[in-house]
Amino acid sequence: MFDKILIANRGEIALRILRACKELGIATVAVHSTADSDAMHVRLADESVCIGPPPARESYLNIPALIAACEITGADAIHPGYGFLSENARFAEVLGHHGIAFIGPKPEHIRVMGDKIEAKRTARRLGIPCVPGSDGGITDDGEAKRVAAGIGYPVLVKAASGGGGRGMKVARTEDDLSDALATARAEAKAAFGDDSVYLEKFLEAPRHIEVQVLGDGLGDAIHLGERDCSLQRRHQKVWEEAPSPALNDVERAEIGGVVADAMKGLGYAGAGTVEFLHEDGRFYFIEMNTRVQVEHPVTEMITGIDIVNEQIRIASGSPLSVRQDEVRFQGHAIECRINAEHPATFRPSPGLITYFHPPGGLGVRVDSAAYQGYRIPPNYDSLIGKLIVHGRTRNECLMRLRRSLDEFIVEGVETTLPLFRTLVRDADIQNGAYDIHWLESFLAAGGEATA
Ligand code: ADP
Repeated sequence: MFDKILIANRGEIALRILRACKELGIATVAVHSTADSDAMHVRLADESVCIGPPPARESYLNIPALIAACEITGADAIHPGYGFLSENARFAEVLGHHGIAFIGPKPEHIRVMGDKIEAKRTARRLGIPCVPGSDGGITDDGEAKRVAAGIGYPVLVKAASGGGGRGMKVARTEDDLSDALATARAEAKAAFGDDSVYLEKFLEAPRHIEVQVLGDGLGDAIHLGERDCSLQRRHQKVWEEAPSPALNDVERAEIGGVVADAMKGLGYAGAGTVEFLHEDGRFYFIEMNTRVQVEHPVTEMITGIDIVNEQIRIASGSPLSVRQDEVRFQGHAIECRINAEHPATFRPSPGLITYFHPPGGLGVRVDSAAYQGYRIPPNYDSLIGKLIVHGRTRNECLMRLRRSLDEFIVEGVETTLPLFRTLVRDADIQNGAYDIHWLESFLAAGGEATA
């Protein structure tokens, strides 16, 4: 097992990792930019190192500074969290050259899944069902038209290096296709420095259902069920739940089995999420994330398995702590991502938190690095906390979520709490009757006005 882990991240996920380390009796090193000197992860870690100025590329993405911080403190492993360097294969490789363990999968698996065209090819080879689309990248408009005619409109142009919902454009007819290609390419170039794109059938009303997996890198892999992340704004998840209101136990075991077998075939090491769209009873692979996800707590709440603890154990060469037949799914969990943003316009609202009162009680978990007197810097994403609630049934979970949201007080900055208070009372949400477009339509119809 590791003696000391450096956490190459900030915010709630840095705190989440720190908690897992403490429970394993492992010493912790926090790193931070000058904008984060007062951050909670810095206060709670055993040691901390300032790694640069506020812009992420000069601090949290600064590989030489992170390696120097390991050398100064004697850390023998790095946990990258999510975002930043978590899916950077080169980073994982460089750490290996310095004798520092990367708490994540093998670099070749990060690389293969990081390129979405390669990822789809690999998924198909491993027996995972995919969205119909182009076999590879699309280089010219003529080829795009031929492929799109084969798939049938509407089609979605997607960036090979895509992430965060950027570089995605729908073409409803052949007339739209050239514009969609040009816009997606330009967006992808600006966001990822890579303008390769591919085509997929655009599904009209799917749900986003993803399967959590753990592989030991030694040929074993298990699944921890699915999460339904269909409530999205601009392709970004807002509310996640497990189990999905749309699946039954047979479908759950079936897709879970397909994914676990695929990961065994790959020799995958670590935690990962295989994402699907689900429509008319069928699953279509869209991508795999080779890291811990923001929404991992909903799975932890229904399985009792600490995913970050497992990641650390796997990276240190230990076997998984549970077998597939020992995984038990209990009750229902929902997570709300609470952002420091205006609840109707979603304009970021950094600044001083003058009052902070999180909810509590049975089945309530708040993963947050915020506190009263904390100043949210304008330099990073606006997630200030996640409220995760567990109940024996979906209905109990919804009632508990409703009262927890009502208890949660954050003053000094705008937050998206009022939006969730409206959502939890909505009939469609209560019935579990929503797809990936539901939230956008709700917001467009002025749904937030009641928030
Ligand atoms: P990113 O890596 O940018 O998050 P994904 O491929 O994971 O991109 O897709 C993000 C979201 O975009 C999905 O959850 C879904 O809402 C939507 N989406 C992606 N592919 C399709 C598709 N073929 N049809 C309809 N919606 C899609």
